[in-house]
Amino acid sequence: MKFKVILIITLILFIEAYSAEINSLPKINVVYPPEGKEITSTDSTFIFGSVTPGSDLVINDQYIEVHKNGAFLAYLPLKPGDFVFQLEAMNQGGISRKEIKVKVPFQHLPTPKDSLRIENYEKAPSQDMVLTSGDIVQASFRGTPGCSASFYIEGLTSYLPMIESAKSESVFWGEGVFGKGEKKDSTVPDGLYTGLYKIKPGDRIENGTIVFELIKKIQNPDLFYFPSQACFDQEKMLVCLADSASGKVTIKEEIVPQIVELKDTSTIIRTGPGLGYLLLYQPQGVRFLANGRSGDWIRLRLAQNIEGWVKAEALNFLPPGTPLPESEIKFIRTETEDDRTLIRIPLKQKLPYEIEQEFSPPVLILKLYGGNSNTDWIRYNLKDEIIKEIKWEQPEKRVFQVKVYLKQKRFWGYDVYYRENELCLEIRKEPEVKYRLKGLKICIDPGHSPESGAVGPTGLEEKVVNLEIALKLKYLLEKYGAEVFMTRQGMEGVGIYERPQKAVKNNCHILISIHNNALPDGVNPFYNNGVSTYYYHPQSLELARGIQKELVKDLQIQDQGLYYANFALTRPYQLLSVLVECAFIIYPQQEELLRSGVFQKKCALGIYQGILNYLKEK
Ligand SMILES: [Zn+2]
Repeated sequence: MKFKVILIITLILFIEAYSAEINSLPKINVVYPPEGKEITSTDSTFIFGSVTPGSDLVINDQYIEVHKNGAFLAYLPLKPGDFVFQLEAMNQGGISRKEIKVKVPFQHLPTPKDSLRIENYEKAPSQDMVLTSGDIVQASFRGTPGCSASFYIEGLTSYLPMIESAKSESVFWGEGVFGKGEKKDSTVPDGLYTGLYKIKPGDRIENGTIVFELIKKIQNPDLFYFPSQACFDQEKMLVCLADSASGKVTIKEEIVPQIVELKDTSTIIRTGPGLGYLLLYQPQGVRFLANGRSGDWIRLRLAQNIEGWVKAEALNFLPPGTPLPESEIKFIRTETEDDRTLIRIPLKQKLPYEIEQEFSPPVLILKLYGGNSNTDWIRYNLKDEIIKEIKWEQPEKRVFQVKVYLKQKRFWGYDVYYRENELCLEIRKEPEVKYRLKGLKICIDPGHSPESGAVGPTGLEEKVVNLEIALKLKYLLEKYGAEVFMTRQGMEGVGIYERPQKAVKNNCHILISIHNNALPDGVNPFYNNGVSTYYYHPQSLELARGIQKELVKDLQIQDQGLYYANFALTRPYQLLSVLVECAFIIYPQQEELLRSGVFQKKCALGIYQGILNYLKEK
């Protein structure tokens, strides 16, 4: 009886609470985009958050599906400028409204054919440049299509031809990487003119202006709107307009070459100003020959036809007369230490280096820029179980190449550093794994914290669910004999660059970074969601592939792909590094799955099985 009363009271309370919920105005909570956000895509993007469960939702006059827990996600068209998402949620309690104001970039419209105009954007060079003989100046601007154009470098050249490129369309990057690659960026209209000039020996100029000229033939001057400062040749019916690039050109031939040296302990050399990585983490004191400049970026000569770029602020400019960054290599010796073999290459000074890996047979290739062979000796160590053979090559002047062939079938990481002026290359021995994972040390990195990472529609924080999955993976790995190190135990803050360092310092064999995904603006989350895995160095590709395969099998959500990706957590080379994005936290169904312990366990199981398969398949 007493039980029955309690049950009835509980039931009444529940019904009251429930009806209070549906009889009061629905709540609207938008997680993304935040108010005032500058959206990076131009035509459509996604918005997500939650409303009181059971409510109907309309955003900008479109009916939006609401998940049973109240979560919603919509992919909606945008208009350039100040744009408003107007949300209306309704239930029996009435209608609630909310507005989210965002900024959408303007697309450049094509220049009208009946005008005569040189557009202010896209004039190149946009930065001051310092060049030398043999370099090519490329000048370009956007203007009225269908005209003739030319340019000259003031004080140096006469008029040089420019041509209008064919209209080209490129795929929006976010869609190209994460989507089907079908959506085009429509920001490349007609009217792009380019011209070239190759600098001759003896050309000299200081801050030369690049002047463009655009000429249009007109039929009837009475019907043409003449821009101010246009010139007009009445006889030939030609209107011309001149403008100049904002970047100036200096051309000089250094009589005394400029040698530079890296200031910091870990500098990345890029393929062009602000472009991709060419040489990873070069140590302090490494020297280069500098031979050009574009804005704040300095061009470094690595070999005859190989150049790299670095910001001027990363360099010390050494006094005239500093010796060239070159060194003879007389001998190479190897030493065995614990679970690794050390290859020592004494140099006269610190030179830039690059490492590549090939697999059949497994070989590690070290390139030393500025290295010249005088190599008559290579000393092996009989106790060494890692190296089969070391060969040196000189493929071209200033490029010394060491090829290290391995006895073991796989790479388990390497390290490269300087001890004074001696280059040290450490190669790690394959771990002896006994039953299941015994003998293996694995670092688990639960992504994010103190920052939350991505946030789901109902407010689930990525850092929370990443840790849940990580702890379940830790349990599994330890159960089967692995030694596990965690980059964080709870919600303490750990910096993004500190995480891989912790894995390396603790001598781990594998680093698994656990994340849950979101998309860049403009990519449709209804097509692009699911599980994905990422690697950077070739040595980690097979492990990443194995983990992705298992996760796709276990999680029963879309296969979002296996990626080469340049992340701080995939870049360490001292061990195998893989980053996993288990599911899409911004997608309502997957956010709900991520809250469940069963799904978290499946994520952990997929990663564990992927590691296990990798070990078995050798
Ligand atoms: Zn993340």
